[in-house]
Amino acid sequence: MTALPGRARVVVVGGGIVGCSTAYHLAKMGWEVLLLERHKLSGGSTWHAAGLVGQLRGQAGVTQLLGHSVALYDRLEQETGLATGWKMNGGLRLACTEPRLIELKRQATTARSFGLEMHLLTPREAQELWPLMDVSDVVGAAFLPTDGQANPSDITQALARGARAHGAAFVEDCDVTGVGVERGRVTGVVTDQGAVACEVVVNCAGQWAREFAELAGVNVPLVSVQHQYLVTEPIAGVTAELPTLRDPDRLTYYKEEVGGLVMGGYEPDPLPWAVQGIPPGFHFTLLDGDWDHFEQIMRLALPRVPALETAGVKSLINGPESFTPDGNFILGEAPEVRGYFVGAGFNAFGIASGGGAGKALAEWIVGGEAPYDLWAVDIRRFGSPHRDTGWVRRRTLELYGKHYAIAWPSEEHESARPLRRSPLYTLLESARACFGEKLGWERPNWFAPPGVEPRDVYSFGRQNWFEPVAAEHRATRERVAVFDQSSFAKFLVVGRDAARALSWICANDVDRAPGTVTYTQMLNSRGGIECDLTVARLDGETFYLVTGTGFTTHDAHWIRAHVPAGLDAHLVDVTSAYAVISVMGPAARDVLGALSTDDLSNAAFPFARVREIRVAGAPVRALRITYVGELGWELHVPVEYAVCVYEALMQAGQAHGIANAGYRAIESLRLEKGYRAWGSDLTPDHTPLEAGLGWAVKLGTDVDFLGREALVRQRTAPLTKRFAGFTVNDPEVVLIGRETIYRDEERVGWLTSAGHGHTLGCAIGYGYVRRAAGLDREFLRTGRYELEVATQRVAAQIHLEPLYDAGMERIKM
Ligand SMILES: Cc1cc2nc3c(=O)[nH]c(=O)nc-3n(C[C@H](O)[C@H](O)[C@H](O)COP(=O)(O)OP(=O)(O)OC[C@H]3O[C@@H](n4cnc5c(N)ncnc54)[C@H](O)[C@@H]3O)c2cc1C
Repeated sequence: MTALPGRARVVVVGGGIVGCSTAYHLAKMGWEVLLLERHKLSGGSTWHAAGLVGQLRGQAGVTQLLGHSVALYDRLEQETGLATGWKMNGGLRLACTEPRLIELKRQATTARSFGLEMHLLTPREAQELWPLMDVSDVVGAAFLPTDGQANPSDITQALARGARAHGAAFVEDCDVTGVGVERGRVTGVVTDQGAVACEVVVNCAGQWAREFAELAGVNVPLVSVQHQYLVTEPIAGVTAELPTLRDPDRLTYYKEEVGGLVMGGYEPDPLPWAVQGIPPGFHFTLLDGDWDHFEQIMRLALPRVPALETAGVKSLINGPESFTPDGNFILGEAPEVRGYFVGAGFNAFGIASGGGAGKALAEWIVGGEAPYDLWAVDIRRFGSPHRDTGWVRRRTLELYGKHYAIAWPSEEHESARPLRRSPLYTLLESARACFGEKLGWERPNWFAPPGVEPRDVYSFGRQNWFEPVAAEHRATRERVAVFDQSSFAKFLVVGRDAARALSWICANDVDRAPGTVTYTQMLNSRGGIECDLTVARLDGETFYLVTGTGFTTHDAHWIRAHVPAGLDAHLVDVTSAYAVISVMGPAARDVLGALSTDDLSNAAFPFARVREIRVAGAPVRALRITYVGELGWELHVPVEYAVCVYEALMQAGQAHGIANAGYRAIESLRLEKGYRAWGSDLTPDHTPLEAGLGWAVKLGTDVDFLGREALVRQRTAPLTKRFAGFTVNDPEVVLIGRETIYRDEERVGWLTSAGHGHTLGCAIGYGYVRRAAGLDREFLRTGRYELEVATQRVAAQIHLEPLYDAGMERIKM
């Protein structure tokens, strides 16, 4: 047994697959690492996992991470000399309904976009790969040949051996009982065997991670849910080569194990566990098998695999596992404490993720920033609703229950709503708003005309909100519309050195005269885009920043973490103080002018300016900007005045045909105008030069800023990817994102966002065209483009300028 050292550079807490993988990668990178495990390695959730390793997810970054797991598992046994049970036997997925088949085809295209092989099969071909199954209700299938399965405990032990071989120290039976934090930074851990000083703590404590994080004031929103699978005695015909099988319409999955089958599933009514806290000593422990609850899964499985009817049952495994409110795991540095990293909440795909997640975490720790776009799993995607465990549990159980449900485009969650409501909520509700939810906020997605129910009916084709959104879109383009954007995150950055601090963090020049509004990105050291926001200078020492609803925690953390030491600049989150009512459209000035004595002429209030004005008696911070490509203002209104301003706008706007409009119209309008969205079009993997945003970067000045060096370097060689727009003339084609881009028959990228442009009357998508040898506008313009949509190629046109420009003059006027 290793004695507890008094210090280590990094302490990893938790010896499951994720902790061991993190230690393995850190040690290989030459870092001094100590892993502390309360009991024995793999005794948490890891030892009882079924061991399926799938790779395809909806996000390129997470798919890339899962690919890293597979690459590691493929070589780990040879590297460490310990068996891992890894085999690349492929993964089969079935479809039993037409919508499911469309989903499967879209997944196959997504796989291709991300460089993964995935073949569509007929039911008969699927059965040849999996002869035990009945395929009478199957309409199609897909096969991912590089998926596989592993023995979770063995993989964990192999990772631990690999880590030790590179100098990592492991101490078992060591309970970490506290984390030292001074001035917002980790200083060490306290254990039942003594204290260890360290620079970095990595919380890999599985389903204990939430409670353990609370010791340091960190929020890790996960809860425990029971998950069951059956293990059978050997069954004739079950061979070692049998691929893993997922049968989402029957909520079940299968894998081979010692000649028998493992069969598990996701019931729609999941059972939470340890609501009052995880009992002490829960280690290498299972819950009692709940046959009554499992019966629904069994009933669905039997018609698929009739051999289960007569197979001997070895055991019904019931293991608790940590699940999260959006079905994705939690990675990265906690926004609350510097040097406090988290890798937890693996939603029953921690074996599949373990290798890649440990690698990503290690690189994040060593490099100080996420190594590639991991926004989908970034701990900073959470916000204030996620601090309430009851809320987290309700949402998590919904997600668990929908694990195998069809993932519809634009689908909204149903549980734990409504929570955060703008002051306009009831008014918009009576105006027949259909709300969506983001970070707990209720936001109008669209407004139902009389006779139409304000309720989403999902489909892979045109949805029921298509026409109402078209009407809102037209109102914005032709008359004037009002959008409730109160959920925007709003920050003040104040202090003597606020301008200096923001000049360093922002790529654009924000150190301009008071009253100016600047659109800017914030970059990482690779020049990748970490934030995309608006900075309004109010006075010499005060800046007002507006960013997307979902980026509140992320952007605040990024800014706070990058204010250079010693500067007097402080960020204050004022999101809750202001409602935001956006008035957009050619008649916006007429409507606003009727309610204000302030001069709103272009001369007095030009584009990209901020002014404090009065509207209907209310003090309003008005920003002259637009995300929809029309003349307009964002009115930032103290919440108690919001209803008054809204009512006055609707009254004054009547003469101009004013309309309520929602977020789905914003999406259609911004797609036409070519405005990029952070998280999809703009990510840490893309620089402003690649994104076509070079005009918003102050490379022409001699002011240094974070990411500048990388951009200067990038300018010395041709770009290898560039952002471009695409349209498809075929009115039947529905683009939703992740469709593959082909140029002259060659796969060159995928759509990062897509939708329908109601003025253009066609499908629109955006994405990066890639070419390792470099590419310029001429290259982009001259190709013959196609998009692969649900495995079918369709002709597409490329666009390097905004698709909709008619409004440009109006915006500036
Ligand atoms: C029934 C079931 C089937 C599954 N099937 C699959 C599958 O087929 N494929 C797949 O990819 N995934 C599957 N999973 C999920 C997988 O098991 C988990 O995602 C994964 O094991 C999580 O690993 P971890 O390292 O995060 O957590 P754990 O393995 O739980 O490790 C956390 C460790 O932290 C330790 N710890 C906690 N607090 C402290 C402390 N204060 N001090 C010191 N140590 C501490 C614990 O003792 C524990 O050992 C399944 C899960 C279940 C329950």
